[in-house]
Amino acid sequence: MSIETRTSIVWDYAPAPESADHVRLRDRYGVFIDGEFMDPAEGRYVPTINPATEEPIAEVGWASASDVGRAVEAARVAQARWAGLPGLERGKYLFRIARLIQERARELAVAETLDGGKPLRESRDVDIPLAAAHFFHYAGWADKLEYGVNAREVAPLGVVGQIVPWNFPLLMAAWKLAPALACGNTAILKPAETTPLTALMLGEIIQEAELPPGVVSILPGDGSAGATLVRAPGIDKIAFTGSTAVGRDIQAALAGRQVGLTLELGGKSANIIFEDAALDQAIEGIVNGIFFNQGHVCCAGSRLLIQESVQEEVIGKLWARMGRLRVGDPLDKNTDVGAINSAEQLERIETLVAAGEDEGASRRSIACELPERGYWFAPTLFTEVSPAHRIAVEEIFGPVVSVLTFRTQAEAIEKTNNSRYGLAAGIWTDKGSKAFEVARALQAGVVWQNTYNHFDPTAAFGGYKESGFGREGGPAGLRPYLRVVR
Ligand code: NAD
Repeated sequence: MSIETRTSIVWDYAPAPESADHVRLRDRYGVFIDGEFMDPAEGRYVPTINPATEEPIAEVGWASASDVGRAVEAARVAQARWAGLPGLERGKYLFRIARLIQERARELAVAETLDGGKPLRESRDVDIPLAAAHFFHYAGWADKLEYGVNAREVAPLGVVGQIVPWNFPLLMAAWKLAPALACGNTAILKPAETTPLTALMLGEIIQEAELPPGVVSILPGDGSAGATLVRAPGIDKIAFTGSTAVGRDIQAALAGRQVGLTLELGGKSANIIFEDAALDQAIEGIVNGIFFNQGHVCCAGSRLLIQESVQEEVIGKLWARMGRLRVGDPLDKNTDVGAINSAEQLERIETLVAAGEDEGASRRSIACELPERGYWFAPTLFTEVSPAHRIAVEEIFGPVVSVLTFRTQAEAIEKTNNSRYGLAAGIWTDKGSKAFEVARALQAGVVWQNTYNHFDPTAAFGGYKESGFGREGGPAGLRPYLRVVR
């Protein structure tokens, strides 16, 4: 038989959509204050939209100043009793919340994907399990707080306001709430305007866990609700995750007040590929570093630094790998890159990509059929980028990677640190000693070696420079929620 007579087979994926039928979503959610869902004081309800279809999913009550006032009052009343519970008892509530997140994991994953546009594979395998893991982790700390901060006696700060962005809605809520509650604080959580659903479902879980009323309140709304919370009398600490611009505004608003503050802000993280790296493995790390969650990741490896000697090989392999990314229905279990979170975010990405082209960088976007409705952006690679280009300096927060090159280790370090941000970095090399030497020289809160976007509740996460200050995760994440008495 000659080879020409053989039938060629084209393998492709069949659609594999996850059903949304099992998700128990309400048509309308109020604000969650003092253990109850209630109408927002000004009666304002705003639909939350599925960014993959532009269809409304549910109506959500947006908090106003009087809701913030009600929540702070409830939190103040609840705080002394909550802090007075033995740590072991507080830990039991956190364990309960973690278990209930696990029980509703499938439902929460679908809701996260519907509301935010991220692929189901990610919400199912990363966001929701990690959110549960954070509650489990801090449940374990609740009766050992002194050991976590190396003190003999500690006390909670009181009432904390917590403001989170839209890229990891439930996970960011867990990062914030779990350590705050373990330490004996009561909390008011402000989810982002485009992704309030899983935070509200967490409100249902908190009810089911029988957390005492007032210990957690959840106030959806826009930036004005966040700004009101920051300025509310009776708040002892603000924990904020979001953009550097808003972080600055919050820091200015709190100047001169005795209110604790931690800021987890933006980034422009470098993923450094040395010539001695296992290149095929590195390609997977580059893809995970920038296309995970459509690049809506504060620590995304958006500046790809490649050693000049392997530049062509890496770019060739990366481009070939990018061509196999599946972009589309976030509910499909085979989708790699889902929808952009909102029309505003899509516009921001388009503006910066246009600036990249205008400034002379060379753009390649993969050919893929994008759905007609919804917000989409094809994975994009920029080469011939100069360190001064906007796409090398500013956070794009989308599926766009900018390639820079270097010749020596010293140049790689210099270029990595040449950023106003300092959130994360990746180092790909076969040599452990080189990885340690480079990591020590980098101004980045997290440095991954031969991996990227690897998160763990036991490890501290946070930034340098304009990426913010304070750490979340692990024992370091207890410190911003405690006062050391002695
Ligand atoms: P954003 O700053 O616009 O909004 C974040 C949150 O702050 C939202 O809940 C919003 O309603 C609220 N807010 C807006 N204006 C406010 C104000 N004046 N006062 C108080 N609250 C206000 O950010 P975004 O666009 O939602 O999120 C993307 C940004 O978040 C990116 O810059 C990203 O890097 C950053 N981020 C950082 C981390 C981290 O851990 N460092 C994690 C995730 C996202």
